[in-house]
Amino acid sequence: MEVTTFSEREQQENELLQKNILVTSIDAVLNWARSNSLWPLSSGLACCAIEMMSSAAGRFDLSRFGYEVFRASPRQADLLIVAGTLTWAMAGPLKRLYEQMPEPKYVIAMGSCANTGGPFADSYSVVPGVDQILPVDVYIPGCPPRPEALIHGMLELKRKIQDPNVARKTL
Ligand code: SF4
Repeated sequence: MEVTTFSEREQQENELLQKNILVTSIDAVLNWARSNSLWPLSSGLACCAIEMMSSAAGRFDLSRFGYEVFRASPRQADLLIVAGTLTWAMAGPLKRLYEQMPEPKYVIAMGSCANTGGPFADSYSVVPGVDQILPVDVYIPGCPPRPEALIHGMLELKRKIQDPNVARKTL
């Protein structure tokens, strides 16, 4: 019969422990969970919103990433996708929607209009970039960006949530 010495047994137990125990922090687990289950607010401002809607439909299937649960209430959403042209007239209501969302919450600026005002940047009525009124986490260029670009932006946001050391602009 093979005899196992005390040190061999201890070594075997250590190997077993290393294979079966995961050491992490509560923050890392929470960030992992948040990053894989973003709930966007059902809100669109202009033509970019059509691309946003397409991303949740069958062809692009945002649900593959766990992000398809668009909510009708800001109180149930943690992601605001600003999809379209933001006018100064809509700036107040949009900011109110953002403020009604629970923390932690995130903002994606989708398309040239949301990023910089786009083709209407010089207009008296258009906000030249949603970051004038809200803290933006991810900017997606394009006029309009395709659904794949939105999905890519959401995956970039996922990386950012999982790595809190990435700087976040605050107002
Ligand atoms: S970026 Fe282009 S497609 Fe999107 S809202 Fe502005 S004009 Fe429309």
